[in-house]
Amino acid sequence: MRALPLLLVAAIVTPLIGQTPSPPDWTAAQDETMRHFQALIKFDTTDPPGGEKPAADYLKSVLDKEGIPTEVFALEPHRPNIVARLKGSGQKRPLLIMAHTDTVNVDPKKWTFPPFSATRDGGFVYGRGTVDDKDNVVAALMTMVMLKRQNVPLERDVIFLAEAGEEGATRIGIQFMAEKHFNAIDAEYCFAEGGSVTRIGGETKYASVQTLEKIPRAIRLTARGPAGHGSVPLESNAVTHLSGAVSKVAAWVPPIRLNETTGSYFKRLATISSPEEAERYRAALSPDTSVSGVKQVINDPSVEVAWASNNVRPHGTSRLGTDAFKVLEENVTEHYKVVTLPTMSTGATDMAYLRAKGIQCYGVGPATDIEDGPKGFGAHSDQERILESELHRFVRFHYDLAADLARKP
Ligand SMILES: [Zn+2]
Repeated sequence: MRALPLLLVAAIVTPLIGQTPSPPDWTAAQDETMRHFQALIKFDTTDPPGGEKPAADYLKSVLDKEGIPTEVFALEPHRPNIVARLKGSGQKRPLLIMAHTDTVNVDPKKWTFPPFSATRDGGFVYGRGTVDDKDNVVAALMTMVMLKRQNVPLERDVIFLAEAGEEGATRIGIQFMAEKHFNAIDAEYCFAEGGSVTRIGGETKYASVQTLEKIPRAIRLTARGPAGHGSVPLESNAVTHLSGAVSKVAAWVPPIRLNETTGSYFKRLATISSPEEAERYRAALSPDTSVSGVKQVINDPSVEVAWASNNVRPHGTSRLGTDAFKVLEENVTEHYKVVTLPTMSTGATDMAYLRAKGIQCYGVGPATDIEDGPKGFGAHSDQERILESELHRFVRFHYDLAADLARKP
């Protein structure tokens, strides 16, 4: 009686061992990726006014066809957010892959290829949203589709969020989701826009992974002095004192304070730079902190310094010692063969709202040529474009990120 159950167990276990899902056929998937990408670019989702519904409907129809369950959350009916979920065993907390469906505005007169034509020319695809953020939308979509088709066994749910309003109306997009429907997107980790791989002279040099965002703080300067006739200017003239204060602040070099991300950014950057540049970056690692405070810099009792009220995104940092960051570095090495630089981006993304809720978020993006920005081909430019080959590489990279982080070992 003891031998029989053991035999049965052996018979059940053996076939499971051979069930490692095969990797997707990425050559075959290129046409499908391009079809979805061009379809998404062709929807005019410029924000304001937004109108992301056709893009959201398209994504829903693709996911429906694959049998991936979706939910629609809309504060305003023509600006919906789409959520889809692949169920895992629940052993680990979910992974969220997120991208926004809206874009910034266009001035069609300035475009060589019309901004919603998704024209393919010379190995590029041209159109508004090609690198912000429909590249991430299509990568996340293909990741969901392929995980489902390959039947990858997951130890955590993989959640897809295509949110509206990132560029101009977060209250109907990420804020609405984070405040009213957080259960639908709550996750341990999140991948979204905000990173990139930099090519110089056509060669990949380094990958930037966004782990936090620069937060602006506004200050208000008020100068006070007695009123008097302008023909006899007083030394205590408030305008003179105020302009003096403004110019002192403008000339001020504030002290550098490094955090985990910026410290590690300069350390790693030094390892791939010329000796001269490396010296500059290493100098930033031991900053001179002798100057402090706007008040001291202005040094004028007739000028008041105070925080101005401003509506900024919430604070939050993602750590570098996580499983997600490890998987990111491994895949950067595998797909791009370059160093990973954790980056504090100067711009803002929707990840700020999720970091504030405790989700460890990392910004990723496709490889672009550093020479493209000044020539006017970058994000938000009048001739936004992406290299087709890099779009496809990014899709494979994105899939591997999700699969490596969520797949059952
Ligand atoms: Zn964006």
